[in-house]
Amino acid sequence: MTDIHIRTTGVAGRITLARPQALNALTYEMCLAIEAALDQWRADPGVAHIVIDAEGDRAFCAGGDIAEMYQTGTAGDFTYGRRFWADEYRLNAKIFNYPKPVVSFLQGFTMGGGVGIGCHGSHRIVGQSSKIAMPECGIGLIPDVGGSLMLALAPGRLGEYLGTTGARMAAADAIYAGFADHHIDEATWPDLIRALEGGAACDTLAEAATEPPTGALSSRQAQIDQHFGGEQLGDITNSLGHDEGSFAEDTLALMARNSPLSMACTVELIHRLRGPSLSIAKALGLEYRFTYRAMEHGDFLEGIRAAIIDKDRSPKWQYPDLSVPAASVSKMLMPLGENALVLEETPVNALKIGFVGLGNMGAPMAANLARAGYVVAGYDTVVKEVTGVQMANTAAAAAEGADVVLTMLPNGDILRTVAAEVLPAMASGALLLDCSTVDVDSARAVAAVAADNGQIFVDAPVSGGIGGAAAGTLTFMAGGSEAAFAKAQPLFEIMGQKAVHCGAAGAGQAAKICNNMILGATMIATCEAFALADKLGLDRARMFDVVSTSSGYSWSMNAYCPAPGVGPQSPADNGYQPGFAAELMLKDLRLSQQAAEAVGADTPMGAQAMELYRQFVEDEDGLGLDFSAMLPRFVKQGRPE
Ligand code: NAD
Repeated sequence: MTDIHIRTTGVAGRITLARPQALNALTYEMCLAIEAALDQWRADPGVAHIVIDAEGDRAFCAGGDIAEMYQTGTAGDFTYGRRFWADEYRLNAKIFNYPKPVVSFLQGFTMGGGVGIGCHGSHRIVGQSSKIAMPECGIGLIPDVGGSLMLALAPGRLGEYLGTTGARMAAADAIYAGFADHHIDEATWPDLIRALEGGAACDTLAEAATEPPTGALSSRQAQIDQHFGGEQLGDITNSLGHDEGSFAEDTLALMARNSPLSMACTVELIHRLRGPSLSIAKALGLEYRFTYRAMEHGDFLEGIRAAIIDKDRSPKWQYPDLSVPAASVSKMLMPLGENALVLEETPVNALKIGFVGLGNMGAPMAANLARAGYVVAGYDTVVKEVTGVQMANTAAAAAEGADVVLTMLPNGDILRTVAAEVLPAMASGALLLDCSTVDVDSARAVAAVAADNGQIFVDAPVSGGIGGAAAGTLTFMAGGSEAAFAKAQPLFEIMGQKAVHCGAAGAGQAAKICNNMILGATMIATCEAFALADKLGLDRARMFDVVSTSSGYSWSMNAYCPAPGVGPQSPADNGYQPGFAAELMLKDLRLSQQAAEAVGADTPMGAQAMELYRQFVEDEDGLGLDFSAMLPRFVKQGRPE
């Protein structure tokens, strides 16, 4: 192939990108050729290390070749792009995990797809002309090719800054941000490459490194952390907008060129990745969720049109005012089910799973695990059939020989009973993963029994409701050891979109009841504010417009608005049929009060919220209604005498 030279020279597997006229932009064929070479050299004893360089002095590789993606995508064919991305990401992971040293020489531009080839190896060399960037938001994509992993690992909030602005990094900044290792004078690169081909060890590269000219990023770290620490894109642009300094102004100018949807998803992506469970597979898998949908639902085709086809530089983005609804971000990053990125050619892990408690939540969670290829044996006292699940006659039979047993049960007493049945049937070292919402004491008691039995336990209650269980978008709040959490992680990734390791056993339940205590109180506050607004003659839609972007905003208002016809779709638009029933909220508020009493915490708002939900469910007509039906209750009731 003329666009790339692949050969072995001496002890080096040699790859040279050879499209300097196109800034060495990576084509699909080049990707496949690199992958085939890496596969061949992996076990070749004659190849000690891989050396990747590129022709021309303007660029190592300025990105992926997107012309064909545009042509096929605008014709309504999304499969070419999806296949390109999936195969490219598999290559990125191979470079990242390669068992031999991979050295890359990154002159000029290294951007997007170039980062995926050049910045995952073991020795990444930059010089005086190097400019590294992840500018994908400018064409309606997100930082991909595993770049999100480096952004999540970059100091402080640098990842959010680099990902949303696409700012270019010269040598010192690239090393500071974790995209490069050594700065070496470019005039010496040909000699170094010859030495590596001749058998020199890659460690000698460090000896050739010199101090690069001072970069800009480290001195701006505090400002970047201050402005980019927010939860969402809107928090970041608000913070920058209230700063009159030149850094804020320049940063907003960079962001103004980019797709708001892409930037909002970039922030969310980095937040989801940052933390102990970060891996290249997780980064690429999440990126692929976006890129898979980028042509159909994102700004990608419009971004390419404006930047490369018509070159008018005036893209018509979705959400041009920068206010991207949380629901749109979730939609782009939702799991892909059977279309999820597969990096290994081997079939999915054939762990044996037991699942006890197959009600409203448990049944769809178990079905998702079965759909992902796991062998799932299930048991429920009432439910006798779940798609893909082999039903057993007892809980112990479902747990027999299982590597992991999941439970999704009504309360702590039932969990203790079921645990006493299943733990003796489980193998030594197996994991009991309880996803029910129960009291902290029950979670800790079951963890202790499991430990006595030589097994491990994680309490991982969920947020996201029945819809999240069916769509595989739950959030898990987990308590247990690092090892136990790591074992549960692949299952979390199938059943949900986020898992937070909160601490030791019981910490997941603690997080859940604290979260739901806030939720109960904010839902009541939101409902009573709407009822007050009604009496003051304030239009509900205007009220939503103000509060959802002002300091009164909350999940109850913005994502689950209790007023019908206002804000995103919610149970209020469906006659308050439950997404999350008022009686379940009452159960959770009781658990938080029980815990507060046990540890002597003062929680007057939580206590008041519990009493209001108790009245609503037990004395009034709230049983069976969604917990947001507090709004019609307040409206109907008026102010008590
Ligand atoms: P559910 O009542 O629909 O399901 C519980 C299932 O457990 C039932 O099918 C029941 O037959 C089964 N069960 C009871 N005792 C059993 C036993 N000894 N052995 C085997 N099976 C038994 O309840 P759900 O809505 O699925 O909720 C399950 C858990 O998830 C609860 O702890 C709840 O608080 C929590 N949760 C629910 C939601 C939600 O929106 N529904 C959201 C977050 C968390």
